[in-house]
Amino acid sequence: MTTDSASPESTRSTDGFHLVVDALRANGVDTVYGIVGIPITDLARVAQASGIRYIGFRQETSAGNAAAAAGFLTRRPGVCLTTSGPGFLNGLPALANATTNCFPMIQISGSSNRALVDLQRGDYQDLDQLSAAKPFAKAAYRIARVEEIGRGIARAVRTAVSGRPGGVYLDIPGEVLGQTMDAAAAAHTVWRVVDPAPRQLPAPDAVERALDLLARVRRPLIVLGKGAAYAQADEAIRNFVEDTGIPFLPMSMAKGLLPDSHPQSAAAARSLAISRADTVLLVGARLNWLLGHGAAPQWSADAAFIQVDIAASEFDSNQPIAAPLAGDIGSVVSALRDGALARPITAPAQWVEELAERKSRNEAKMRELLSENPHPMRFYNALGAIRSVLQDNPDVYVVNEGANALDLARNVIDMQTPRRRLDTGTWGVMGIGMGYAIAAAVETGKPVVAIEGDSAFGFSGMEVETICRYQLPVTVVILNNGGVYRGDEAPAGSDPAPTVLNARARHELIAEAFGGKGYHVTTPDELRSALTAAIAAGSPSIIDCELDPSAGVESGHLARLNPTSAAAPAAKLSAGA
Ligand code: ADP
Repeated sequence: MTTDSASPESTRSTDGFHLVVDALRANGVDTVYGIVGIPITDLARVAQASGIRYIGFRQETSAGNAAAAAGFLTRRPGVCLTTSGPGFLNGLPALANATTNCFPMIQISGSSNRALVDLQRGDYQDLDQLSAAKPFAKAAYRIARVEEIGRGIARAVRTAVSGRPGGVYLDIPGEVLGQTMDAAAAAHTVWRVVDPAPRQLPAPDAVERALDLLARVRRPLIVLGKGAAYAQADEAIRNFVEDTGIPFLPMSMAKGLLPDSHPQSAAAARSLAISRADTVLLVGARLNWLLGHGAAPQWSADAAFIQVDIAASEFDSNQPIAAPLAGDIGSVVSALRDGALARPITAPAQWVEELAERKSRNEAKMRELLSENPHPMRFYNALGAIRSVLQDNPDVYVVNEGANALDLARNVIDMQTPRRRLDTGTWGVMGIGMGYAIAAAVETGKPVVAIEGDSAFGFSGMEVETICRYQLPVTVVILNNGGVYRGDEAPAGSDPAPTVLNARARHELIAEAFGGKGYHVTTPDELRSALTAAIAAGSPSIIDCELDPSAGVESGHLARLNPTSAAAPAAKLSAGA
């Protein structure tokens, strides 16, 4: 085969490698994230030669996470390329995570010889990848002949972005990539998918039902989820929220859809808003564990729910949905707005005042916490410094993972702009950090600040090399308290306690090892000036932020999900008992 960017027309034949690239290009794919190896190395070369940007990673899960984040940011499927067997398996957690988060991505994996795999004859890296991928993907397809490559890519693109977005697995055995066919005939096998994510208009009677309900209530609340951020219906959502005056609560990745400083934001009065709302309009948010399943005691036992979702099967998954609105968010929210203008619908003043009063009390408490200046630093003091720098840099993309580093940053770091925050998502998964940061930088060209717990960073830390190799404007701030949750647990034996890492680790040296810039900070002032300089430089950097190892609580805000051993309670162990 050749590695020319164009199909080798002069030889009147083309091959599977070129056809995959032709089909990706025909469908607007301009970036591929992956790791090369047998049998897809030439696929990456041909892609790069064709003008597609190829970003090579150090571990496939991060490449897959990057593809998923690209899908969330662009509404086009992010593409991840993996090798057979173990490389494929490393990509699978990211595919599963993308599917869970409703992000469109396609994992294209090379695979071993079908005839050998199916008779279990022991081929190189043999695995029935199609079967393995099925439970973790929205759909899984295999391309068995070179003539089917265009169709396979079209099908993967369509499936990934239409309806509820998700991860699609596309298996291409090595022998198919190497097959040749007549170039003129091959050109007819590739097509561009027309309108890959068609609008889905809501039924007029469903809109009426929802508006009737909203018009009667005393304490309405709008919950905006990451589906609302993904939908890119920013103006429609903003208009509806502002026209009705109904308080809104953003889920973490919907922060910035309307600015966190918006007077109608109920974020600083979250518990009160949830427990007192009598009617809740869910827009691209599921009533899963992140929302206490919509149940008492977090919610009022007789709260009524209106839900906007593209997947009708989501309705009634946890609570009765009094007014289901099946459709795409842009269309549904525009229809709601038109109907609301005709009625009109407003938020009762007493409810707005009740929330405003709680908000100002909680905001005062937050200001107090942020103004403390203990030494060594604790989470709030470090986050206060980050917050002030990011307020001056609203264009920055924020990636956030960890336990305490996630829970506290989510509350402290305000977002002003839609889709600027990427975090652990529906699963609360660790390890997304560097993959998401790389995708945010590659897809947008804007500066990225990844706010990481020291434990969370470890899951994808080697991708700092990738960040440095591509000279991406990514600053990784590591809130280093030396442990999973915290770093001061006493050991039960001679080894470190299970939660303990290394509070004196100098993570910034990792950046320096690969040509990036490292900063080590111990005070909020040092952190503020390091982060300001790092963002301004627009090049790879790590800020190791030394925190008090006793800062942090076990399981962050999720302590209620953590079953404690009755025989050996954590508190007893940490006291060295
Ligand atoms: P969060 O975690 O922020 O609460 P979820 O991931 O639970 O958000 O919910 C996102 C929801 O948004 C999913 O149920 C998904 O089906 C839905 N969704 C995604 N894109 C669209 C869209 N364009 N229109 C309507 N619903 C959408």
